Amino acid sequence: MKKLSILGSTGSIGVSTLEIVAAHPDRFKVVALSAGSNLELLCEQIERFSPQLVAVISEESAIKLGSMLSGKKPEIFFGVSGMIAVATIAESELVVAAIVGAAGLVPTAAAIKAGKDVALANKETLVTAGHLIMGMVKEKGINLYPVDSEHSAVFQSIQGQRRADVRRIILTASGGPFFGYPMEKLSRVTVKEALNHPNWSMGRKITIDSATMMNKGLEVIEARWLFDMPAEKISVHIHPQSIIHSMVEYVDGCVMAQLGVPDMKAPIAYALTYPERVGTGVKPLDLTELSGLTFFHPDCSRFPALRLAYQALKAGESMPTVLNAANEVAVEAFLEGRIKFVDIPAVIEKTMDLHSPQGLASIEDVLLVDRWGREKAHEILRF
Ligand code: NAD
Ligand code: MG
Repeated sequence: MKKLSILGSTGSIGVSTLEIVAAHPDRFKVVALSAGSNLELLCEQIERFSPQLVAVISEESAIKLGSMLSGKKPEIFFGVSGMIAVATIAESELVVAAIVGAAGLVPTAAAIKAGKDVALANKETLVTAGHLIMGMVKEKGINLYPVDSEHSAVFQSIQGQRRADVRRIILTASGGPFFGYPMEKLSRVTVKEALNHPNWSMGRKITIDSATMMNKGLEVIEARWLFDMPAEKISVHIHPQSIIHSMVEYVDGCVMAQLGVPDMKAPIAYALTYPERVGTGVKPLDLTELSGLTFFHPDCSRFPALRLAYQALKAGESMPTVLNAANEVAVEAFLEGRIKFVDIPAVIEKTMDLHSPQGLASIEDVLLVDRWGREKAHEILRF
């Protein structure tokens, strides 16, 4: 029986994780959950999975949750210290890090420090603090399992191979809902159109990131840390069918790929049960049903976010933290209807232009730079 803590249990990844848990009650026990504002769903999850501890965002939500629950109640914590309690609770063996954004960094780092294995969906943890997190993973000797479908595909395609034999990693990207759009049409897209992803059903922030291609940029940075590969060895192919989830090309010209219908339950389950595999309910792949698999180079003139992510990775140090902070602010502003879709990368680029990269020696340093990036992006939005 594997004991799990889930950070962000009410989100898209959190809910899929609990579906896998529910399908395999003999394998998993949920000991702790954390959620943001969806108290109704958290309540249902508590009643169904009986965790011993839960955390919510604020004291007010904690009191409200307490009044909503009947019967045996878990301990209810709140705020950052609450999320840390979920991440570090003694009973848990594996922490699923599925909070969205840089808010996931501190609890995920706490889980690693406490010696827990981590199933990582929260890519922003590695984007903002990659070298610190990988240093902690090594020091603590814990396992960090990728949940992101591309990184799970690379993880599956790289096992048993020598790192020196890898020529490059090829991350695939669906291209999002605006793949073929000319610039002039991109400047007019609406929030509703941007939230309508062709292949994947996900949280709002990552759905917008997929439409701008920033999601792929963040994933390039995530891959740099997870697989210890320099940026030059990480390529991106647009693959609109989302059947090949990513590939590893070797020096002899062989390419290993992982395929499947696009459903996050497959990579989540693999992160939960590695090295075993279990049933996920994911529809089997029937290649004869497909009319073809196509691949294209990304167009960074129409989708500059990907270029900015490579640029941030090249600049190094604190620049990816600033890229991420500015992106979170710009995506929020777009979702609130305050800026246009094409303004998202423009805000990020302006914020990066104002930043001189500096070394990050601790998570506290990362949080300071994150705050700086957010403040600058907000200032840029005001003008
Ligand atoms: P989501 O918005 O659906 O869910 C986010 C979860 O985090 C919710 O439980 C929410 O309540 C909680 N949360 C949000 N802000 C918080 C805060 N400030 N403090 C505490 N909790 C907070 O997001 P998602 O789509 O499930 O994505 C989660 C993470 O997984 C992201 O980093 C995303 O990039 C990554 N990811 C998601 C998918 C996907 O298919 N959804 C695929 C790959 C990677
Ligand atoms: Mg992904």
